[in-house]
Amino acid sequence: MRHFAVVGSGPAGFYTAEALEKAFGENARIDILDRYPVPYGLIRFGVAPDHQSLKAVSKRYDKVTESPGVDFIGNVTIGSDVSVDELLGLYDAVILAIGAPHDRKLGIPGEDLPGVVGSAEFVGWYNGHPDFADLDPPLGGTHAAVIGNGNVALDCARILSKTQDEFGGSDIVGHALGALDQSSIRTVTILGRRGPHQIAMTPKELAELGHLAEASPVVDAADFPPAEADDALEPGQRKSINILRDFAATPADSKPKRMVFDFFARPVRIEGDGRAEHIVVERTELDENGAARGTGEEYEVPASLIVSAIGYASPHIEGVPYDERGGKFANEGGRIADRLFAVGWARRGPTGTIGTNRPDGYEVAELVASEMPAGSSGDREGAVGLKRLLAERGVMATDYDDWHKIEEVEVGRARPGSPREKFVRVEDWLKTLGR
Ligand SMILES: Cc1cc2nc3c(=O)[nH]c(=O)nc-3n(C[C@H](O)[C@H](O)[C@H](O)COP(=O)(O)OP(=O)(O)OC[C@H]3O[C@@H](n4cnc5c(N)ncnc54)[C@H](O)[C@@H]3O)c2cc1C
Repeated sequence: MRHFAVVGSGPAGFYTAEALEKAFGENARIDILDRYPVPYGLIRFGVAPDHQSLKAVSKRYDKVTESPGVDFIGNVTIGSDVSVDELLGLYDAVILAIGAPHDRKLGIPGEDLPGVVGSAEFVGWYNGHPDFADLDPPLGGTHAAVIGNGNVALDCARILSKTQDEFGGSDIVGHALGALDQSSIRTVTILGRRGPHQIAMTPKELAELGHLAEASPVVDAADFPPAEADDALEPGQRKSINILRDFAATPADSKPKRMVFDFFARPVRIEGDGRAEHIVVERTELDENGAARGTGEEYEVPASLIVSAIGYASPHIEGVPYDERGGKFANEGGRIADRLFAVGWARRGPTGTIGTNRPDGYEVAELVASEMPAGSSGDREGAVGLKRLLAERGVMATDYDDWHKIEEVEVGRARPGSPREKFVRVEDWLKTLGR
């Protein structure tokens, strides 16, 4: 019998477990570990609460843990509760699927001022992530800025601009809904260092901005290259640019809020009297390689809340080689070292959609299978040894039944018509279990 530990229960972890289960069948036991008592990673804490159809992918993940060879072991942090070396002693292979939960820094003066938050923090706050429940982002000013030109920036701008009614059917956490309802923010500026052709925003997410109850997108037609230049774009990107062009061609309406796309704008510094008041940006242009080149012209964008959505990095784990530039574990095709692998964002860095993690997980599972074929036997203890170690250390691990009990209680607490009542403290999750 082989024993595999998949560390991380986001999409990459589940797809890898699914693939290992298919490859090894009854010849392996697969444990999916997570630092939280409940699984799903960014499906729970990242994907926007008003995108419920995407969050529904978790139902497919549930099926994986219903297989007899796959177990969930939650509330265990690898790197502090148990080391990777210890896991390697207990399991035939360890697959790190821990994602990239840390915000990349802007690297400009003023980024530590109150009022400047990373998108992982802000997104975590409105999604009920226990680490960010107390973020309390300042929503009392009239202007906010979101730095970045990807879908996460769009999520943040949209969430800041929606009305309470527009969150109907979402699972936004109550504390965020209440605070957003009281928000005074009327203008959200979305800053991008380069132009419309260089965005990493997908058509569906962009188009949504054209249908908000009280907010309109504002795009400057002067930012676009000539229309013929769009022909060279791949079809999805061309669709996105068409949507932006439509926004630019739409006359201003009377909606009270605006989401302003400020292209060719590079953040230089954040200033304010003890807290963020505005961001100084430098006007840029594209150089011959398509990179942003400063023009020397600077101007101020008012913002008392600044959300930086410029990418993520995986955390360091003792003894695991790290690729500083890529913000991920150093690996070759998913292999880090003997019996140690990485998948998902921990392998590739923070790019791609949920679906991108599927081929990734399958590829790494194949690699594992090629190194220890089904039928070959290992002699490690797996979950039995891990649970003994956790008990010795007083770590209260959760299992499949615990996780479902927690979710049932959460659903039971929700009042009709109100957002789902989520627990935002790990202690509360565990209290539900009577421990
Ligand atoms: C704000 C945001 C919105 C997104 N929206 C979409 C969308 O609408 N559509 C789409 O297709 N994609 C979206 N994505 C991308 C998608 O979420 C990622 O592709 C996917 O979640 C990456 O999967 P992963 O398993 O590598 O990482 P994650 O989903 O981050 O999972 C990592 C897991 O590892 C656990 N973990 C971390 N450290 C440890 C540790 N030391 N010990 C044990 N466990 C640990 C975490 O708790 C987590 O459960 C979004 C991403 C973000 C950030």
